Amino acid sequence: MISYLPDCIYTGGRFKSGLALVCDDAGRIVELTEDVSNATRLPRRAMLPGMVNAHSHAFQRVIRGRTEYRSPHTTDSFWTWREQMYAAANKLGPEEIYAASRLAFLEMASTGITAAGEFHYIHHSPGGTPYDDPNLLAHEVIRAARDVGIRIALLRVAYARAGYQIEPNPRQVRFIEPQDTYLNNLDQLLATIDTSDGMAWAGIAPHSVRAVPLDYLKRIIAFAGERRLPVHMHVAEQPAEVEACIQEYGRSPVALLDTEGLLSERFTAVHAIHVTPKAVEALARSGAGVCACPTTERNLGDGVVPAGAYFKSGVPVSLGTDSQVQIDLLEDARELEYHLRLQKLERNVLAGEDGTVATRLFECATVNGAKAIGFDGGKLEAGRPADFFTVDLDDLSIAGATPDDLLANIVFSLSRTAIRDVVVNGKRLDLK
Ligand SMILES: [Zn+2]
Repeated sequence: MISYLPDCIYTGGRFKSGLALVCDDAGRIVELTEDVSNATRLPRRAMLPGMVNAHSHAFQRVIRGRTEYRSPHTTDSFWTWREQMYAAANKLGPEEIYAASRLAFLEMASTGITAAGEFHYIHHSPGGTPYDDPNLLAHEVIRAARDVGIRIALLRVAYARAGYQIEPNPRQVRFIEPQDTYLNNLDQLLATIDTSDGMAWAGIAPHSVRAVPLDYLKRIIAFAGERRLPVHMHVAEQPAEVEACIQEYGRSPVALLDTEGLLSERFTAVHAIHVTPKAVEALARSGAGVCACPTTERNLGDGVVPAGAYFKSGVPVSLGTDSQVQIDLLEDARELEYHLRLQKLERNVLAGEDGTVATRLFECATVNGAKAIGFDGGKLEAGRPADFFTVDLDDLSIAGATPDDLLANIVFSLSRTAIRDVVVNGKRLDLK
């Protein structure tokens, strides 16, 4: 049993002082108590629940800074970036995947992220031959997360084709598995992943409607339903993807998922940018969530997630660092709001009933992310996992904050230099 006493703890939607957080040896919060007699004092620190990064491609950390130039004779877009990303992906062996993932997870931890949903799609060796263990690379990514000490939901990606009426792309050979192979390999992953300590688990991730045809999609989502697994999918990230879906099925991606009964409260639509009000309604009706990745979305020129419409309809919005161009979930949180301010020429667009934006944005970075990856964290309450980070109240980026505006200071202004302790499953991480 260990007990921590910071200056204040963010619990129940506000900062409270005079409370110690007690966790047991299994890494759970036993209680928040006013009995602070045996507590380890954390002076000048505020404690917050660890953040949940709901959408990550850890290996993409290796292309940071390497795609920020204009290619000759073409307009740069998501699609030209994708070719550059594939070129990098095709060079990485198991050790490189481990090293790149470890670097990404270490950076996540150093910014207060304590759990990640890893949308993992590199399965085979360069050239496309499966490894003897078809989950070798998935296990390397899990090992990297474990070695850093953060939790990981390994969302195993299904990828069948380049797209509707599109010739196979040789750069995708490391991702592609037919239905039966995918399900066998997923089964094997579920049987071999060590879930005993709650630090790792699996879910499924049909890549997108362009990469997974409908019959395949239905089958694997039915499988996930039987096993109660989280389902993540890139949805409506680019207008071209929406157009191709309408051409193939006569329906937009969300309409297709809705009319085929594939949405559920375990479903997370990643991006969900180019959607109609009807699509927002369909997501809301099904209980599905949306994962926005604003830093990546603006880097790739994807567009702006209509977060206001999602909030209004009660669709939970989580956040992801996605391409790892920058790993800072609070930056994603503030951009979710800032992009809408630029679009609407208004301020405090996403404010809730209490008039504040920070509370809702912080929910996106914590509880909504936890729900998306099938995890009961994201809140500091008795019975929940002891995952938290602390910030230095004297850090220049938030100095002068009062208890009432501390969360807004953290959400809108916190710099990484303010982050001190990062604790996952009751254990303090060594962030070197
Ligand atoms: Zn993605």
